[in-house]
Amino acid sequence: MSSQSPSALKGFRWLLIAIPVLLLFTVGVYLVWKTPPAQIPPHSSAPSTPSQPADLAPFGRLPDWSKLDRFQNTISKETFLNRLETVYTKDPSWKKWIAIDESANQAIIGNYQLVFSPQDRPAPGSLFNWKTRADLSGDRALPLEDLVIAIDPGHIGGDFAKIEEREHNQDGLTIREGTMTLKTALILKPLLEKLGASAILVRSKLEPVTKNRAQDFADPRLFYRTSEIRARANLVNQTIKPDLVICLHFNGTASKELTPDQHFHIILNGTYTEDELAHEDERFEMLQRLLSGTITEEIALAREVAASFNQSIKLPAYRYPDSARASQNLANHPNLWARNLLANRLYQCPVIFMEPYVMNSISFISRYKKNPGGIYQEYAQAVAEGVARYYSSK
Ligand SMILES: [Zn+2]
Repeated sequence: MSSQSPSALKGFRWLLIAIPVLLLFTVGVYLVWKTPPAQIPPHSSAPSTPSQPADLAPFGRLPDWSKLDRFQNTISKETFLNRLETVYTKDPSWKKWIAIDESANQAIIGNYQLVFSPQDRPAPGSLFNWKTRADLSGDRALPLEDLVIAIDPGHIGGDFAKIEEREHNQDGLTIREGTMTLKTALILKPLLEKLGASAILVRSKLEPVTKNRAQDFADPRLFYRTSEIRARANLVNQTIKPDLVICLHFNGTASKELTPDQHFHIILNGTYTEDELAHEDERFEMLQRLLSGTITEEIALAREVAASFNQSIKLPAYRYPDSARASQNLANHPNLWARNLLANRLYQCPVIFMEPYVMNSISFISRYKKNPGGIYQEYAQAVAEGVARYYSSK
């Protein structure tokens, strides 16, 4: 205990704090006054820094860049640039945010530096360690043994189909995409289980996964496009932790009339546009996918699933009319397209996003009227066979 009175001690402590603060302030004012105005950097040289006010995707969170630390010294510069330029972007706009420092052999992403490895090394997993084909034991009895596969029936369907704009009405017939994807998923699940997988549905009812509803938002799209997909991503990444997610969809056109078109494609995550890269969370999520190497599994798997569809269902390959958001640059395969969708970006493991059929086409409606179950069956069968073929090949 000190013998000094408490008030004298207080005054002394106050001086101890106040003097250095005052000194620092004076020096600061002098420096600001003396420094010439900063020059505006040329466009190409300075990627914007994560410390600037962040621009985020709807409901996106400011990323923790240190989560990329596990990828330090795991990828070569060549592989990094190859994936960036052939899969994840379509134009050089990425250079606004990512610079390559040749002398230090690293990428500079805002304030974050990622050091390249001289050679590619096996990437550590994402948030969880999903298995690649090479990780599976060679002497398993069934092709999909040891695999956890999440089946994501696209959209919500049922009473929600109208508000999510996934409903077609044709001569008294109503078809709902989210209802059809769930029916297909319920056939696919036991098929995958028979092949040895543990198959889990991301949605098993004609109801949303999110607790939000359309009336919670001024723009109802935030309910079914954003809140719903983010809720599914939480379920996939935190609870199911699968080795693969299969997103089931039926394609459709905006036309109210029946169309003669019929086609098929598979979407893998990629082709981030400049506007998307401007969002700090999307930039981070793109890099997380790029570095964890999901694309290697996705391309090889999607090729097998496409082959299986082309053998049994034989739909023509789809071509995107507007190619700014999509690119067919994956393994030069007519059915494989890269697009940045919320689901295939957020699910932290390989994702294949199925888009077969045109559900408002003349031929689809005519088949649907006779036997809708036959469509779900052939769809599920083609997916299961393709997946099994991929994981049993060497
Ligand atoms: Zn869809």
